[in-house]
Amino acid sequence: MFDFSEEHKTMRRVLRRWVDAELVPHVDALESEAMLPYEPMRKLLGTFGADEMARQAVAKLEARASGAATPTPEGEAEVGMMHDPAMSAIVSIELSRVSPGFAMAVGASLGLCGGAIMRRGTLAQKKRFALPVLTGEKIGAWAITEPGAGSDAFGGMTTVARREGGGYVLRGSKTFISNAPYADVLVVYAKMEHGDLPLRQRPIHAFLLERGTQGLTLGKPMKKMGMWASPTGEIFLDDVFVPADQLLGEKEREPSREGARDVFHGERTGMVPMCFGIIERCLEVSVAYSNARKTWDKPLGEYQLVQAKLAKMFVHYQNVKNLLFKSIWMAKHKVPLTIGEASAMKAYCAPAATEVAMEAVQILGGNGYMREYRVEQLARDAKLLQIGGGADDIQLVTCARALLRGEIAFG
Ligand SMILES: Cc1cc2nc3c(=O)[nH]c(=O)nc-3n(C[C@H](O)[C@H](O)[C@H](O)COP(=O)(O)OP(=O)(O)OC[C@H]3O[C@@H](n4cnc5c(N)ncnc54)[C@H](O)[C@@H]3O)c2cc1C
Repeated sequence: MFDFSEEHKTMRRVLRRWVDAELVPHVDALESEAMLPYEPMRKLLGTFGADEMARQAVAKLEARASGAATPTPEGEAEVGMMHDPAMSAIVSIELSRVSPGFAMAVGASLGLCGGAIMRRGTLAQKKRFALPVLTGEKIGAWAITEPGAGSDAFGGMTTVARREGGGYVLRGSKTFISNAPYADVLVVYAKMEHGDLPLRQRPIHAFLLERGTQGLTLGKPMKKMGMWASPTGEIFLDDVFVPADQLLGEKEREPSREGARDVFHGERTGMVPMCFGIIERCLEVSVAYSNARKTWDKPLGEYQLVQAKLAKMFVHYQNVKNLLFKSIWMAKHKVPLTIGEASAMKAYCAPAATEVAMEAVQILGGNGYMREYRVEQLARDAKLLQIGGGADDIQLVTCARALLRGEIAFG
């Protein structure tokens, strides 16, 4: 698979028209934080029927659970736009061409929060917590990072859960959490009390929290370098009581990081279409500018130093496109991507997106540095992709470990 099907290309055109009409006019407001990303997000879900698809998918699960429908292996966890990997990539690409921050706010709510509940939750949890998130009625956040635990998210985690009164009491804090300031539903990871087991080795569980719960405080939006259309904040848990039916999956498991790792995996590959959207847009703008702008009476594009920049940008474009289609093909055919492969993808695509966006700023000169041409925004936004979901160095370390452990098959 090297390109989108004709049907997907048509969807891409339709989505681009929506973006031009409904998102582009609001980019300044979103970027100045005068407007939150949630109204346009609801409009997006409503326009393309993703809210209705989510309702139908959950109704189908209910019917199946009651024996009224024949079980089918597909469509259990991925619903709406997320159900078709090519379609969800197209959404991410088209949004990221214009506002990677908006794409991230949508992805954190629907993909990270909604996706985690749809993958691991009970039917009742999917209905109560995931469905309102997937329809856009509520905003979701997914919280693992802590002030002392980012790269070492599992080992360094100090947020703890203790069993009490038929449920759990959570204590600790989270930081850098997308959508946290406005979230209604939060998937929060904590270490479960486990006899004398040292904190570092305790099992990690996810809990479903709701805004307004006693002891839960959501901080104000943090000021950032980029991704201004995506609010980011802290979460404080001051002895928050969580009923037993709000433990994700409602089952305590033995020490395992599988659940959160699944989402990490998704976070890594989920960034590839974002990188592609940024690269494609920056390359388009740079080519057009190189043809139009003249210095010493010649278009910029006639100078070999500018040509070299464009050519290198195109090499990244090609490579990221290939990785994008590889990941879509694998998701479609349910071929699992190893953690080493997922890390290698992110380790290549994220720096490539930043490099291409910074080169676009350079090619556009003074105009590149100005807001009007948008490439400076894309460059600031792209930088986050080298940090969030595991920083570049961690992706490289993960690749190397996978290689050394013999987890990557050659030939
Ligand atoms: C805008 C934004 C949104 C985010 N959204 C979310 C969210 O929704 N949910 C969530 O849970 N988290 C979220 N994060 C957190 C993000 O995943 C972490 O910031 C990231 O994992 C890096 O962790 P850290 O910031 O603690 O950096 P650190 O772990 O302190 O690392 C700092 C630097 O040191 C390097 N480093 C660390 N250890 C090693 C090592 N062993 N070898 C080599 N280099 C090393 C890292 O690569 C990095 O460059 C978000 C972050 C940002 C900035």
